[in-house]
Amino acid sequence: MRENVSLAPFVTLRLGGKADYFAEAATVAELAEITISAHVRQENPTVLGWGSNVLPSDEGVPGLVVRNVTRGLTVDDEGGVVADSGIGLQDLFLQTVQRGWGGLEYAVGIPGSLGGALVSNAGAYRSSISEFITELEMVIDGERRWVPPAYMQFSYRDSILRQVPTPRAVVLQVRFRLPRTDPWQSFQEAREYQRQRISKQPPSPSAGSFFKNVTDQSVANSLPALPLALKEKGIVPAGFLIESVGMKGFRLGGVGWGKRHANFMLNLERGTARQVAELAEITKDKVFRAYGVALESEVLYLGRW
Ligand SMILES: Cc1cc2nc3c(=O)[nH]c(=O)nc-3n(C[C@H](O)[C@H](O)[C@H](O)COP(=O)(O)OP(=O)(O)OC[C@H]3O[C@@H](n4cnc5c(N)ncnc54)[C@H](O)[C@@H]3O)c2cc1C
Repeated sequence: MRENVSLAPFVTLRLGGKADYFAEAATVAELAEITISAHVRQENPTVLGWGSNVLPSDEGVPGLVVRNVTRGLTVDDEGGVVADSGIGLQDLFLQTVQRGWGGLEYAVGIPGSLGGALVSNAGAYRSSISEFITELEMVIDGERRWVPPAYMQFSYRDSILRQVPTPRAVVLQVRFRLPRTDPWQSFQEAREYQRQRISKQPPSPSAGSFFKNVTDQSVANSLPALPLALKEKGIVPAGFLIESVGMKGFRLGGVGWGKRHANFMLNLERGTARQVAELAEITKDKVFRAYGVALESEVLYLGRW
C-alpha cells in the first residue's frame, strides 16, 4: 500500500488529485481480502477499474483506492463463463468469441473493466453488460457471497452500486451464460461497431459520454430537429441538448465539450477536475432553463467535492 498517489495516470480523463492510500489487487483473493478488512473497519474503499467513467476531485480521494487488475477467465463447453471483475471488456469479448461464444460484440470498444461496466450497466448498440449474467460474487458489508443479477437492480446506465451513499459492495467475479456464435461473424460485427466509434470519438482524454441520455416524450416532441426514430421512442440524446443550447465545442480553461461528439467532455490541455465540474454545471443550467430537463451525470464524481 502506498500513500498520496496521484490518480491522474489511472483515469482516462488524465486529471484529478491524489488517493490518501493506494493499492492494487491482482487476484480475486487479494481484492476480497482488502475489501473485507476495510469493511470490518467500517471503511468503504473506492475500487478503480480502468478509470474510464470517473472524475476524481483535484482535492483528492479520502481513504483507500484499490486498483483492480484481476483478469482471470474460465470458459466451459456450454458457454458458461466465470470472469474476474478486473478483466477488460475487449479481452472478455476476444477470449469468449474465440471459443465460439457470442453476445458481447457491442462491448469491444468500451474501454473499461467488467466491474466498472456493471456499476453503470455499460452498453452500446442496444445491448448492455447486464445481459447473459447468471450470478455475481461480491463482498457486501464485509461478507463474501454469490448473489443473483436482481441484486444489482440494473436499469439504463444504472445499478444499486450508483446509489448515494454508495453501498459497501464490491464485485469480485461474474458468471455468464453466453449464446453460441459463428466467431467470424461476431468479429465482423465487432469490427463494424469499432469503425463507427472511431469515426465519432475524439482522440483527446475523456470519460466517454458525460451525461445520460434523457427519456421524456414531451421534450422529444418539442424538438423539431430530433430524428424521427428517437422522437417515436421519446429518447433525447444528451449531446443533442448540449448542442441545442449552443455548448457544443465550448471550452473552459483546459477542458471543453467535443466538436464531433457534443456529450464528450475532453481534457484538452492540462485541464482540472474543477473545470470539468464547472463546465458540466453551466451546461446543465442552460439545458434546464431551455427545456426544463435536469441532465444526470453518467460519469461518477470521486472524492472531496
Ligand atoms: C472513449 C470512451 C468511450 C466509452 N464508451 C462507452 C460506451 O459506449 N458505453 C458505456 O456504457 N460506457 C462507455 N464509456 C464509459 C466507461 O468506459 C464504462 O462505463 C466502463 O464500463 C467503466 O469501466 P471502468 O473499469 O473504467 O470503471 P471505473 O471508471 O474505474 O469505475 C467506475 C465506477 O465503478 C466503480 N467500480 C469499478 N469497479 C468496481 C468493482 N469491481 N466493484 C464495485 N465498484 C466498482 C468505481 O468505484 C466507480 O464508481 C466510455 C468511456 C470512454 C473513455
